[in-house]
Amino acid sequence: MKRNNCNNCGTNFEGNFCFNCGQIDLANKRLVFSNIVKDFFDNTFNIHKGFFFTFWNLIIQPSKVAKSYIQGKRKSYTNPTRYLVIALAVFATIQYWTQMNEVINNDTFEGFPFLPEEVNNSARLWDLRLLTEWTLLGNLLEALVFPLGFYWLFRKLRFNYSELLVLSFYLISNSIFITLILVGLPKFVMSYYTPTLFVVGTIIIYYIYALLNFFKEVPLLRRILFIIIGIFIFFIVRFLLIPLILAILFPI
Ligand SMILES: [Zn+2]
Repeated sequence: MKRNNCNNCGTNFEGNFCFNCGQIDLANKRLVFSNIVKDFFDNTFNIHKGFFFTFWNLIIQPSKVAKSYIQGKRKSYTNPTRYLVIALAVFATIQYWTQMNEVINNDTFEGFPFLPEEVNNSARLWDLRLLTEWTLLGNLLEALVFPLGFYWLFRKLRFNYSELLVLSFYLISNSIFITLILVGLPKFVMSYYTPTLFVVGTIIIYYIYALLNFFKEVPLLRRILFIIIGIFIFFIVRFLLIPLILAILFPI
């Protein structure tokens, strides 16, 4: 076999791939247009690890996708961090085009009766801001907060936070895509606003389906109870505590 010098990391290697960084030997040749076309199709439509393959598998068996990454099968699907970045970028672009804000602007933040009115008002504005202007931060916080309740409730299964974060990145990303499809399509095609309740309901059912499979070592009744509590904790932290903390730290 001929020896090659890797252009990416400088290692001298034999074979089709650099043993140090994994770069394919082809990449050491000068870039041609067909490389770019192939790269695009590999990352987007590849039947084994492309975006649409990952999206579809996350709809039909979300738990399996997350578990294969956690268990070290990391080349089968788009990896969770990249998937989240794609979701956030697509969301930001579509939101910019369609002013989807109108749909979620009627969000109601209840606040706490025992807190001063100005804190509640400020928290309400933060809640709105995370859902409309600062969606990148809002969605990222959502993904980071999602595992907390489940980490505590299902501690006997000994998942660590990072492992649950994998599940969270996949689920939050797919809930973004589901939202875009449910809200974006009807609005674009026939100027119809899908009721917020329907979108939220669909996403909660999707979460429950994914979590029921993901934590399947736990007996069914306890699992259902824990999942409901976990989702409840997620909503409390994300839509009450975080806006409140932000309102206290940065009053508006
Ligand atoms: Zn290399």
